[in-house]
Amino acid sequence: MAEQEHQHKQPGGPAISFEDATLKGAGPLEKVYAFWLAGMSCDGCSIAVTGAGDPSVEDLLLGNVPGLPRLVLYHPVLNIEAGEEFIHNFELAAEGKLDAPYVIVLEGSAVDDSLIVGEGFWVGLGARPVPGRRDGNKVISVMEWIDRLAPGAAASIAIGTCATWGGIPAAEGNPTGAMSLMDYLGKDYRSAFGLPVINIPGCSPIGDNFTEVVAMVLHFLQGTGPLPEFDELGRPAWQFHHTVHNRCVRGGYYEEGVFAKHFGEPECLVKIGCWGPVVQCNIVERGALRHLGGCMNTGGICIGCTMPGFPDKFSPFYAAAPGSAISSETSKAYGRVVRLLRHLTMGHQNREPYWDQIGDTPSGWALELQNEPLLRRLEDVLYRTLQFVGGKKPGRDIPEVKYRDGFEVEPKKRARVLNGKGFPDSLKWGYQRRRAKVEREATEARRA
Ligand code: SF4
Repeated sequence: MAEQEHQHKQPGGPAISFEDATLKGAGPLEKVYAFWLAGMSCDGCSIAVTGAGDPSVEDLLLGNVPGLPRLVLYHPVLNIEAGEEFIHNFELAAEGKLDAPYVIVLEGSAVDDSLIVGEGFWVGLGARPVPGRRDGNKVISVMEWIDRLAPGAAASIAIGTCATWGGIPAAEGNPTGAMSLMDYLGKDYRSAFGLPVINIPGCSPIGDNFTEVVAMVLHFLQGTGPLPEFDELGRPAWQFHHTVHNRCVRGGYYEEGVFAKHFGEPECLVKIGCWGPVVQCNIVERGALRHLGGCMNTGGICIGCTMPGFPDKFSPFYAAAPGSAISSETSKAYGRVVRLLRHLTMGHQNREPYWDQIGDTPSGWALELQNEPLLRRLEDVLYRTLQFVGGKKPGRDIPEVKYRDGFEVEPKKRARVLNGKGFPDSLKWGYQRRRAKVEREATEARRA
């Protein structure tokens, strides 16, 4: 099926034939080209991607991922070729002369060259010779490359919030008409393989989010995997379905209504400006880089950098979001009760059943845990009663796990003899009982 799809003539792109291709992996493609374009960008996306590890860029380039074609990347920062030699490959792609499919990746926002009065460009990549010009060359606008490469691309991937939604370059007051790749190509755009623009937002994005999607798209192009699931805005659904808050390491504090007042405190940061409850992003579970870092994990608030409304709709930063007051005040109110109940349960669960029985704790670190107050004992009885309603207590009391011949383990027998009252104080701890036994045996030996 993949081969039939791959052999159709791509509009504006190369007619792909696999007859001469060296087969590698499970499908028909030996390699796929990737052309990285930089619009209004800070290069942060490139830096994030080079740190990815699941898979790494190196693994994609070397064809180390089983079943995947090798990725041949043309990147304005990473390539060692420069000038005409570098641009030559872009020309081959635009002219449909490559021997394998290609994808384009846009980092940074697209721009509106039509705003420029007269000749000019906002962002350029390479130049072509123009006889008669003073410098002999004319810079090629990145938008021209998108015009020429997007129709024939097997997939067009926008990486980072600038490319996916417009981002900081598109904020209020920008003079460039900065916009996303989707805004530039329009709603009807489809790649040569029938895909709308794929969006992997973030400022900067998580590198692994990108390489993971690339790997899955390569599987799709190869015919060895389904098209990954994207949401209504072209985001990888499995990465951006949940909110930051859903997975936040501070979520428990929010639930119990405990909020940080200052940075550096461990509690929920909503009162000092966190937008996590409404922001779709997987930074806390995936971390910024190889499962390390990530905004709330390291004390930062969520400022909504993966969202289409960023930055204008999330400004001013470091001020509580208007919508957060109702929910956080509500959780503060019921959180007090929840916290108290949990505190009681924690106290109960922090004690061995034997400690409950003797009313003491053998810890030299907390001598005050001796002589549990009556209320605590009542709470224990109540808790244990409720805990086993409709359930079975641990132990060998139920018929299925009783020893068939009526055998009873020694501690159980002993507990029965002591009638649940525990040992006298002189035999409360294990060494006392062992010493008593040793002395008893010695006395018996002497008598004998
Ligand atoms: Fe939610 Fe932000 Fe608080 Fe985390 S720090 S629990 S994301 S509001």
